Amino acid sequence: MTASVTEAAKANSELDPAAGKITLKAAAGEGTMRAGQWDPEQKKVVIREVSIPEAGPGEASSTVRGWAACSQFPGQFLVKIASASLCHSDILSIEANNTATLGHEGAGYIEKMHSSVEDKGFKVGDPIGFLYIIGCCFECEGCMIHNIHCVTGKQLLQGFTTDGFFAEYAVVDYQNAMKLPESIDIKTASPIFCAGITAFHAVDNAELKEGDWMAVVGAGGLGQQATQIAKAMGFKVVALDVNDATLEVCKKQGADAVFNSRTNKDYVEELKKLTSGGVRAACVFSNADAAYAGVPAILRLGGVMMVIGLPHNPLKISSMDLALGKYKVKSESTGIPQRMKKAVEFLAKHNIRPEVQQRELDDLNDMVTEMKEGKATKRMLAQILTSIKTTMTLKKIDHEFKNNALSYDATPNYQPCIKLSFFFNKKPEVSDEQFHRYSNP
Ligand SMILES: [Zn+2]
Ligand SMILES: [Zn+2]
Repeated sequence: MTASVTEAAKANSELDPAAGKITLKAAAGEGTMRAGQWDPEQKKVVIREVSIPEAGPGEASSTVRGWAACSQFPGQFLVKIASASLCHSDILSIEANNTATLGHEGAGYIEKMHSSVEDKGFKVGDPIGFLYIIGCCFECEGCMIHNIHCVTGKQLLQGFTTDGFFAEYAVVDYQNAMKLPESIDIKTASPIFCAGITAFHAVDNAELKEGDWMAVVGAGGLGQQATQIAKAMGFKVVALDVNDATLEVCKKQGADAVFNSRTNKDYVEELKKLTSGGVRAACVFSNADAAYAGVPAILRLGGVMMVIGLPHNPLKISSMDLALGKYKVKSESTGIPQRMKKAVEFLAKHNIRPEVQQRELDDLNDMVTEMKEGKATKRMLAQILTSIKTTMTLKKIDHEFKNNALSYDATPNYQPCIKLSFFFNKKPEVSDEQFHRYSNP
């Protein structure tokens, strides 16, 4: 028997936590939390007990700042992470032996705000998603292209050069954050904030018109979302991969045709026949050299090769092909937070959700191994709110309910998001009818 506190509050105003009647509060910025970090010595991901970070003023207090172009400095939120997911680039962080908390795809609830950002349109308890380059000014010429180019040189990459999101808490620069649209489930929202946004930008900027054919090259997490996005935009989709299982997922998500480019030797011919001469654009999500090498053969004249997947080697592209207009090359990434809203709102509106496999924070090392071995067919996501063994101290203020249908129910691992959900036990002597009257007015 559960009821939301807002519903119950209508029945009995004494239950309104905003009125200070019940306090169940975790200490933020103090205490410890669990975080997934690479251990170079053990050569595996371990879950460490680390300090809960403090929502800081960003670099605002730094005397190094003072660039005329950068009038606005970031302040931070402390976020209680609800979901974090593993992206291929996390493997690069591990290969570089970074020891910061892993993860750059996250979503969670604002737990605490630095005083400098209290007037930025957010409030404690808001469900948010966010990007992951922090410490930059978000305003300069460099930040308008990609925050990695910020002129201040203070930018850090969460999950790489500073702590990321595979943890119970993380700090987020407020400029990177947006409130989640109501239809998006926070428990599976994290992949939107790298994979989903990147896939949207790729498809949205591939210069396609309704009815055009687009190829998804590499049918993993990004390719699967790109398939759904392209269908919602009215394009026809052909997906290419060397893995039948991921192709099958793309097909379920609406791909008009799929080709296994390894096992089907005639795929180029068949694709050209199907598309009457080739695709208008090919979004390459694979990081295999061979995937890129195969693209010119499937593009129609003047088509767009959209570079998303990042192979270790430089791309081999014929300058003559470019000069003669055979095809053109463009690229996209997660981009800057100013472009994030359009992408997320499109995904929300068209009910485009990442295919995820729900795991726990404790599974992070297994998730990394599976990704390295190419076994992952879906985005692997840790539901941290539901999987953590909490280390927080919950303070319960004794409270006598005047309404005898209700009693207090907070278990030791009860989440401290009292503004969002609150659970009541039905006392044995109370009838169902009476209980529902109070819990669902
Ligand atoms: Zn990523
Ligand atoms: Zn900047």
